[in-house]
Amino acid sequence: MAAPAAIRQGSLFRAAANPLDFNNPAQALSGLLSLAVQLLASPRAALYEYDESENAFSPRFAQGIPLADLGRLSTATDHPVLRTALTGRQATTTGGSRESLGLPLAPGNVVCAPCQTGGQTIGLLFVANDSPAGYDAEALATVEIIASRTAEVLAFARQSATQSYLFHKLSLLYQATHAITSTRDRQEAVRQTAAHLLKATSADSCEVLVFGEGMGLTTRFRPQLGKSVQHTVVSMVTESMPEYPVHKQVLRDLKPATLSVVPPQGTPRDMSMLQEEGLAAAAVFPLSTHNQALGLVRLLYSQPGRQINEQEMELAQAVINIGAVGLQDAIHLETAKARADQLQLLGDIGRDLTSTLELEVALENAMQNAQRLLGVEACVLFLLDEPGEKLVLKASGGTTLRIRDVAIRLEEGIAGWVARNKQPLIANDVRANPLYHSSIDGQTGLLTSSVLCVPLETRGEVLGVIEAINHPRGAFVEGDQLMLASVASWAAVAIENANLFQRVAEERRRLEATLVETADAVVLTDRSGKIILVNKAAAQAFRINADMAAGRMADEIFFGHPLGGLLVGQEVSLPTTMEVTTPTERTLYASVSEVTDVGRVAVMQDITALKQIDRMRSQLLGTAAHDLKNPLNAIRLGADLLNDAPLSDQQRKALNMMQRATDSMTNLITGLLETIRVESNANLSFEPCQVNDLIRRAIEDLRPLAEARGHTIAYEPPHEAVLIVGDPSRLNSVMANLLSNAIKFTEPGGTITLSLDWDEDLVNVHVADNGPGIPDDEVPRVFEHLFRGRVTVRDPNNPIEGTGLGLALAKTVVEQHGGKIWVTSKPGEGATFHVTLPREPTPKTGSLRRG
Ligand code: ADP
Repeated sequence: MAAPAAIRQGSLFRAAANPLDFNNPAQALSGLLSLAVQLLASPRAALYEYDESENAFSPRFAQGIPLADLGRLSTATDHPVLRTALTGRQATTTGGSRESLGLPLAPGNVVCAPCQTGGQTIGLLFVANDSPAGYDAEALATVEIIASRTAEVLAFARQSATQSYLFHKLSLLYQATHAITSTRDRQEAVRQTAAHLLKATSADSCEVLVFGEGMGLTTRFRPQLGKSVQHTVVSMVTESMPEYPVHKQVLRDLKPATLSVVPPQGTPRDMSMLQEEGLAAAAVFPLSTHNQALGLVRLLYSQPGRQINEQEMELAQAVINIGAVGLQDAIHLETAKARADQLQLLGDIGRDLTSTLELEVALENAMQNAQRLLGVEACVLFLLDEPGEKLVLKASGGTTLRIRDVAIRLEEGIAGWVARNKQPLIANDVRANPLYHSSIDGQTGLLTSSVLCVPLETRGEVLGVIEAINHPRGAFVEGDQLMLASVASWAAVAIENANLFQRVAEERRRLEATLVETADAVVLTDRSGKIILVNKAAAQAFRINADMAAGRMADEIFFGHPLGGLLVGQEVSLPTTMEVTTPTERTLYASVSEVTDVGRVAVMQDITALKQIDRMRSQLLGTAAHDLKNPLNAIRLGADLLNDAPLSDQQRKALNMMQRATDSMTNLITGLLETIRVESNANLSFEPCQVNDLIRRAIEDLRPLAEARGHTIAYEPPHEAVLIVGDPSRLNSVMANLLSNAIKFTEPGGTITLSLDWDEDLVNVHVADNGPGIPDDEVPRVFEHLFRGRVTVRDPNNPIEGTGLGLALAKTVVEQHGGKIWVTSKPGEGATFHVTLPREPTPKTGSLRRG
């Protein structure tokens, strides 16, 4: 009894103790199957594993029978042995070969033991023999032990498979994330998504449809083994995706869906479309971020029976999600880039338009840039003609455009409407727009489908319109309108600038023509003294080539001539006038003045003729005076001779009158001759002289006269030398004239005071008397030629002699010295004459010449 028991225990022991290699589940499982065959001394054994997706047991390993001969076992089986094994969860055997029918390994005695783990049956172990004895309890116990060990191996294998799948999934997602998000390009993001989808699934091809800019075109990808046997994807032609009903559903629900022909899955329409495409199955995923669909992804299977499994589905959706984010990023980036490019282009258009005054070129460039900016077929600019009746095509951009003097009447077409209403207009389907005139297409050679038109206006006034023709995607949007409006404002500025420039240029031309043609000589310089213009008269008078003079310095052209100094000199105070002579012996009266923002201008009148007449007058006067003097001298001589003759009182009286008359006539003639001499400016000699000397000399010369009339002359000489530069003899006659007037007009016994004061620049001489003074109405006239006041005839019997030329002469001389003379007077209290002359700084050493 002991020995057989020991053997039997041995088989149970061996069943439990046989070592297993968990790292190699297949070997462990087939090892356990061999052990069962051996320990139960049976020819056949098989292991079935539970397949959740099928809800059935599938054969995995077999001994003594080919695996292919074994079929599946449904869990819903009603075989009593299987039912007992599944529900009773213990090993069961058939009572004989007949009962075994319907079981694997049949016919014969069949044992079935459940492989259980965690209360679940994950496999079934079958052992069979053909012995009439069948299996005893010990055998069943042994099979149970082997079955439970088989369950351990199966569970371990399943778990490690899940783990390795998880690892696989993680690494794939990591790679996908890296590859997809590192691209900044939409096409590349799509390509990478497709490549990783084909890696993650067993699909034969993958299609990605992206909405938006791509107009819903689909790119089809197929895996390909490259030369290096590396797995890559190739993208095939882009086309539109067939419109399966399921696509709408996927986009609406944003959830994936699967279609297959066998087993049938999907609506009949979807399935028939799938068959038409020659496909066996398809999985359709939404490509979406933030609940917004960017497109669709299809994974396609062409071999019958092939289908995506749940794990693949999950993995594919994860990759697609990453793809959606990458794609969104790329789109954002592209949009930002495109926007930046557009802004740049818009900036270029603005700069181009405003930096040139060649309007036609500028507008042409602007239209070319605007055409690129909007990506349209053509961009055209119309300007309103002068009467404001027609819009005339002025510039265009776009290669296909053919321009022929296109003009649109203001009351027709889209352009006319925009110009009239000063409002932009978008017509995305022009043929449906009542404003559209097809005749214009004939003129431009364009087939218009969509139009964007904006007005070109400045300060509320319409100058024209700009039209963008044929949007690349068929429809203009508000953004396009804003951009074209911006181009229009630049163009309006350019047009206005050009008009302004033209007006200014015209004005300038007119002014130039006037200046050039005028009879007066004109020389115009810029602020640096460079000649801008020498007109005809000036060129002739100065013998200058006007064209060659332009741009050269005025003091170079008028070298050694006072005009050069007047036009270039820094210390010239303007405006100023001056008589200048020309190389052609003409005398010009030049007035030089400042022209704001330009420079200086000299306008010169030819006064040669006037000068000549003046000279002739002086000569005539001189000759006449001279000719008169001789007979007068003869009369005076005759009268003097008669003096000694015996004459009656009456005769003597007449003789005296005659003598006085000839004297005063001689004086007048001498005075006139002197006036002519002085005013002709001739023989002026300039030299430094002391003012004190001039005054003292006058006093000395006239002292006898003053004493004769009982006057007192007061004069306090200065303590230092006060100098002026001038003609001493003429200045002396001025002093003498003032003093003699004071002596002459003041009643006997008067006081005449001469005084002198000075500052750094000027010397003032005052000659004051306490005589009758000058009536207010005569003050403005005393310096006129030949003027004599009422005072001279206060006593008609004894008139005060004089010529009325003295003060006029004094004025001329003082002014010739750059000075001034005036009188202040209180009638009845006396008169004071003032002379102011420029002072000459006193030299520290050296002697002064006396005048
Ligand atoms: P004349 O002395 O020969 O008359 P002037 O030209 O010297 O001519 O003077 C013009 C006029 O000015 C004089 O006739 C006189 O009426 C007035 N006049 C000049 N000096 C004085 C003076 N010191 N007091 C009053 N009247 C004067």
